[in-house]
Amino acid sequence: MLGRLASWLRGSPAPAPLDPAEVPALDARLAGMEAGERLAWAWERFGARAAIGTSFQPAGIVLLHLAKRRGLDLPAFTLDTGLLFRETIELKSVLQDHLGIVVESVLPDLDLTEQARRHGDRLWERDPDACCGLRKVAPLGRKLRELDVWITGLRRDGSAARAATPFLEAVAREDGSAVWKLNPLADWTRERVWAHLKEHRLPHNPLHDRGYRSIGCSVCTKPAGEGADERAGRWPGFDKTECGLHTRLRRPSA
Ligand code: SF4
Repeated sequence: MLGRLASWLRGSPAPAPLDPAEVPALDARLAGMEAGERLAWAWERFGARAAIGTSFQPAGIVLLHLAKRRGLDLPAFTLDTGLLFRETIELKSVLQDHLGIVVESVLPDLDLTEQARRHGDRLWERDPDACCGLRKVAPLGRKLRELDVWITGLRRDGSAARAATPFLEAVAREDGSAVWKLNPLADWTRERVWAHLKEHRLPHNPLHDRGYRSIGCSVCTKPAGEGADERAGRWPGFDKTECGLHTRLRRPSA
């Protein structure tokens, strides 16, 4: 393992393209590992072409901590829509200092002024799917051009729509080519995530202490109260529970 790691650090050639047909066998192998081992697998095979995507929800903080604890220099990025809560921006800074890491902020192509000029003011109040497309899904698509593996904090117990989350799946970049999506915490519960934060004295978003469950953009997230569904409070007034990052990237063609 160390030899392969060393070759990565020396800048060895890019890994061989992955065949989506490999997914079922790899998914089964990953099921037998601990979350930290799944991250180590990604680092060993893909090096810096695997990256943790986080919005600083508790699961994302666990991933950043597990990677740091194992000495894995996996890059990390966040999608900064320009509409995040002040508390979320502050948490990013606190975590970077606490873990000694840098989290790249990936920005939308349009700033809010230009988005309002082209699509009208407060697009999120009229068409949140379009707004998420511009401010989250498109920037992610741009970021995935640089990566072979996108590492997420998705958990099966996060919502009914996420109940079948595999450890590894293939999704398509804009050009149809496959990129891997690794979900190392798919089998973790909300309780286990929070216990990990507590055990390791990791910071969390203070909005969780004020009744917010999942935390997204400030204009689209309301407190839902302890015991509410984990995705409650997102896009109140709309029949929408996902921003599209995990639902709008189609599967690559076989
Ligand atoms: S969460 Fe709301 S403000 Fe943020 S990108 Fe989606 S619709 Fe726009």
